[in-house]
Amino acid sequence: MGDREYQICTNCVMDTSDPQITFDEHGRCDFCNNYYNSILPSWHTGEQGWKELTTIAERIKATTKGKKYNCLIALSGGTDSSYLTYIVKEKLGLNPLLLAVDTGWNLKVADSNVENLVKKLRLDLETITVDWEEMKDLQIAFFKSAVPYQDTPQDTAIFSALYNYAASHGFKYVMTGGNHSTECVKPPQEWTYYNDIKLLKDIHKKYGTIPLKNFPLCGMFKYRIFYRYFKGIQVVKPLNYVDYKKEEATKLLEKEFGWETYANKHFEDRFTRFYEGWWLPNKFGYDKRRCYDSSLILTGQMTREEALRDLEQQPYDKAIAMEDKKYICEHLGISEEQMDDFFALPNKTFRDYRNSFTMINKAIKLAMVLGIEKRNFRT
Ligand SMILES: [Zn+2]
Repeated sequence: MGDREYQICTNCVMDTSDPQITFDEHGRCDFCNNYYNSILPSWHTGEQGWKELTTIAERIKATTKGKKYNCLIALSGGTDSSYLTYIVKEKLGLNPLLLAVDTGWNLKVADSNVENLVKKLRLDLETITVDWEEMKDLQIAFFKSAVPYQDTPQDTAIFSALYNYAASHGFKYVMTGGNHSTECVKPPQEWTYYNDIKLLKDIHKKYGTIPLKNFPLCGMFKYRIFYRYFKGIQVVKPLNYVDYKKEEATKLLEKEFGWETYANKHFEDRFTRFYEGWWLPNKFGYDKRRCYDSSLILTGQMTREEALRDLEQQPYDKAIAMEDKKYICEHLGISEEQMDDFFALPNKTFRDYRNSFTMINKAIKLAMVLGIEKRNFRT
């Protein structure tokens, strides 16, 4: 975090643990200003949003007429993708194929939340199982690389498997649970830089031990250019058109599908729970709750005071963290001492490895000019 003096936004709870955060003269951060200036003005829910969404749904129905499925959804088992599935099937009357990606950590596929949803909505579920030996090798390579974003292997696998499946099975529409309501403050690039195949391959080349033959990969070029413009795949984010409120959505899922709530946004996965709740804050001082809570503050679902109180608590219980650590070590086939050695390595960033940062930045900048991309983006 360098020598920078500590500062926290006066409007949300983002602070200088993001090394690149900037503040205006009122002490308001650039995430807040990005939200008010570039997300909020073009974000329509309510009647207008619903009208826009139903128009999209009608177009999807028309263009996929005669096909078994209208679209593809990656179901993680979390609130966002589950509520999305409910909206798409029950409210829009579309028939999605659900795709679950088993990365070896989630109990997601066998999870009762997913099962109940699939059964009650009478949907088809396809499961892709990632080659565990390759997954394991890549995860250990990432630990050795000492970059902050240890969830890169899982995120890459899920993201890539989804779009590769869509492309190879002729899906023209992919629906995601991406939304402004719970994600308008995206985790800073320094914390969660990923989706860079060059970086992944460089880290694997340096620290991996077996070749990645089956691991799903889909880089930014393939995703943004080839799949979109040559394969004609469109990504739709329905939750941005409805009044998506986390608490209400969860209540509905509980009532309709016997839902059980997770402690935190991405805590449905044991590796992610340990990584986000323990590894990232303790090794790097990055607490992803700051982003989740800030998103909820900006969208009126939490007060700043509630968020500050939330942040005073440990992300999760130390005893559970240590149990998770033991489990993760056994699962990866390493000793707890080895894990401690990884933890003690000097912290690095993605800049310490070969990467496509400059090129990806240019692509995002272009997307922003075209109005496709609305994330808070620093150049
Ligand atoms: Zn802020």
